[in-house]
Amino acid sequence: MFFADMVANVLTSSVTELDAMEGLLSEDPGGWKCVYLTNEGCAWHLKPIVCEMFMCEHAKDALSKNDPLLMAQWNGLRKKEKQFTWPDRPVLFDELEEIFIKTGLDSPLMYFHKSPGLLRVKNNTPASHL
Ligand code: SF4
Repeated sequence: MFFADMVANVLTSSVTELDAMEGLLSEDPGGWKCVYLTNEGCAWHLKPIVCEMFMCEHAKDALSKNDPLLMAQWNGLRKKEKQFTWPDRPVLFDELEEIFIKTGLDSPLMYFHKSPGLLRVKNNTPASHL
């Protein structure tokens, strides 16, 4: 997940929801299961974009075979996702990190400022897109 996912979630969550997430983190036993997965489902109010946009290959195959129109809509949503997460032009998620970095905050989730792959994309961005 991205740092901006956290920001968006905090801004849209109630104090009770945030307390519940903090409780899950402090009691995390580790292991393969996502720490935020509870018996009632995901503890995030606004799920990380990578979770919202995940579709397994089996589901994608079924969608493309059964309803090509829906597949086209799905591909349109993937393009929209890039408007937030693919920094070949200014993107909101990068800008949100920048705001918090300027206040002195640091997080390993600030991938737009730490991920070699995303930094490469940013550095290859033509000046006309900045
Ligand atoms: S949607 Fe994402 S954050 Fe929520 S439980 Fe599933 S993997 Fe974890």
